[in-house]
Amino acid sequence: MEKTLEIPLNVKEPWYIKEYKFDSLSENLDIRLDFKRGSKFPCPRCGKPDCSAYDTKEKVLRHINYFQYATYLHFRVPRVKCSNCGILQIRVPWAREQSHFTLQMEAMILKLAKRMPVLQVGNLLGEHDTRIWRVINHYVSEARFKEDFSDVDEIGLDETSCKKGHRYITLVVDIKNSKVIFVCEGKDSSTITGFSEDLQNHSGNPSNVKSVCCDMSPSFINGISKELPNAEITFDKFHVMKSMNEGVNEVRIQERKKIRNSKIPNSYG
Ligand SMILES: [Zn+2]
Repeated sequence: MEKTLEIPLNVKEPWYIKEYKFDSLSENLDIRLDFKRGSKFPCPRCGKPDCSAYDTKEKVLRHINYFQYATYLHFRVPRVKCSNCGILQIRVPWAREQSHFTLQMEAMILKLAKRMPVLQVGNLLGEHDTRIWRVINHYVSEARFKEDFSDVDEIGLDETSCKKGHRYITLVVDIKNSKVIFVCEGKDSSTITGFSEDLQNHSGNPSNVKSVCCDMSPSFINGISKELPNAEITFDKFHVMKSMNEGVNEVRIQERKKIRNSKIPNSYG
């Protein structure tokens, strides 16, 4: 049975499965991993091989379910003494530091979070949604850190509200790649300043932006003229038509009033 568990967990020397226990009452599977006595590990910073374990710290991580059993890995993670770097905790192959989950469980969480609200992911897995958010925030930040906006020259801006219209967020879309590249709270001109700074932090250049498509918000127009000096603004068709329809409707209401007033009989004959 240990072998059956070792293969999907990718447990390799010097690690091994020491024991496992099914608890039919709680429907948990607890797997105890350990490393062989006297094992050596590479330094997690400089890679120096064959560092001895200095001490260990107990850890419990949630893994993907084994059949209906919520699976937990229990192990002691060693700190090693490196002659170059001092005392450091090693990286285990099945999890990243600071996580409550194994890498396979984190991959499952990200897949689910693409398809359903985070609260539902938490309910489905029996985990508090703050833990789910921590995983999502980690990988989104990591992926966003690597983003390269050097070829962004055509963007779309729009704002939307959340929490029944009390909070606004502004979204910036890279039109050529059909991709949201910046989101922030608010809908004033400072949102364009925030976008300009973020663009520069990802190898982009605000002067490269030649075209911006947005609604007729004076805040956006001010922000664009200040932060994106070479951008031409195109008002998007939806907002132009909306504005035109509102204008036509207003004229129609006024004309109806006029017609109605002209038909009121003069009581003095
Ligand atoms: Zn080292």
